[in-house]
Amino acid sequence: MKFSERVREFLEAGRAYPYAGEYGRRKGLVNLASNESPFGPSPLVLRALRKALPSIGLYPDPRQEGLRAAIGKYVGLGKEEVLLGNGSDELMDLLCRAFLDPGDRVLIPLPTFSFYEIGVRLSGGIPVFYEGKNMEWDPAELASACRGTKMVFLGRPNNPTGGCLEEEGVKGLLETGALVVVDEAYVEFSSKGSLAGWIRKWKNLVVLRTFSKAFGLAGLRVGYLLAGPEVVSVLERLRQPFNVNRLAQVAAETALKDRKYLRKVVEEVRKEREFLREGLLSLGLGVLPSEANFLMVNTSPWKMEGGELCRKLYGKGILIRDLSGFRGAGKEWVRITVGRKEENKRLLETLRKVRG
Ligand code: PMP
Repeated sequence: MKFSERVREFLEAGRAYPYAGEYGRRKGLVNLASNESPFGPSPLVLRALRKALPSIGLYPDPRQEGLRAAIGKYVGLGKEEVLLGNGSDELMDLLCRAFLDPGDRVLIPLPTFSFYEIGVRLSGGIPVFYEGKNMEWDPAELASACRGTKMVFLGRPNNPTGGCLEEEGVKGLLETGALVVVDEAYVEFSSKGSLAGWIRKWKNLVVLRTFSKAFGLAGLRVGYLLAGPEVVSVLERLRQPFNVNRLAQVAAETALKDRKYLRKVVEEVRKEREFLREGLLSLGLGVLPSEANFLMVNTSPWKMEGGELCRKLYGKGILIRDLSGFRGAGKEWVRITVGRKEENKRLLETLRKVRG
């Protein structure tokens, strides 16, 4: 059996989603590797799920009207401007399939979330990488790299750096006419604000969001896309009819009702992010400023590679992310998710021991 040329090219490029070392949740393991919420979902969500459980014999609502309207209300848009996905990963893939012809070029500023490249390659697109200096993106350089590309993927805040391109920089990209996909998976933790409202002015803007981070629903897989109704209505026809399952729809709709819980989670994560950042800096590590629920940390002041630090921590029951597999990051970087107070304290104490 021969795979398609596109798949063979993809395999040759050797890119794959870099899974964190362990999803099996070894008992007692502190998992700070996947940027989930350490607080999980609101108790109201758990209650609603228990109530909805007997109905899983029925297909979910294929029109997804209730959740789309609730999201519209949350972001200040109409339901015809909202499209749901089985996680925002699915929507990245859908966007690539919908917009790319073989050979189309797509700008991917680095380092960033690895699925952008995977989605592009699987659709026969050609990734064009841009690397700034010191992990920072220069708006003028970005706009010039964007010319001649069909599409650009921009994390805002970006994973793994935690940084946000300023609004002027995003405008510069939109003005090139390329389809600009702004991934706001971590926007709830950021002080820079969302660009959701911009979709009314810019027809070439698509914003991606998710329930996997601040809402604590990573395991249920719900993401969404915000764009003009012309784009949404076409993508609606391309997606799988039952892509977001019944429990996921119930959970996401309920999560949006508990704004008090969301505010508490965000406030706590922001507070802990600063606690962790200061702790890491005082241990002599390099830390980038972050608008998200994770920190990108440089291990070179310790004369240690990131992989070595990860192995040492793992031996002591803490999982963090080695970034050596992230294009554009390198061997001396790791990424650490902000955990609960006791987890962050344990991490700092363990690091102190590891440093010797
Ligand atoms: N975008 C970014 C920047 C991410 O880091 C992640 C997950 N780590 C996602 C999207 C995926 O989100 P989802 O769970 O909605 O597929």
